[in-house]
Amino acid sequence: MLWIVYMRCPVCGHVLATSAAGGAVPPFCSARCRAIDLGRWLTESYRIPGPSVQEEAEGLADLTDRMATSSVLAEEDPC
Ligand SMILES: [Zn+2]
Repeated sequence: MLWIVYMRCPVCGHVLATSAAGGAVPPFCSARCRAIDLGRWLTESYRIPGPSVQEEAEGLADLTDRMATSSVLAEEDPC
C-alpha cells in the first residue's frame, strides 16, 4: 500500500506531497531549503535544551591553559 504524505517545508512553507513507502523522508522541499536549515543550526538560531555549550568550551580552555603551563615548567627544568 502506498501512502501519500503531505508535509510543509519548515523553511519556505511549501507544501509537498511525498510517498512514505521509501522510509525516512526529508522534510525539506529542496536541497536549497535543507542548506538554509543547516545554516540556521550552525549559527545557533535553533537551541536545544540541555547542558550549556559555553560551559564545555570554558572547561576545554581551562584544560588547554593547564597543558600550556605544564609544558612551560618542563622547559624550565634543566633535567
Ligand atoms: Zn522549502
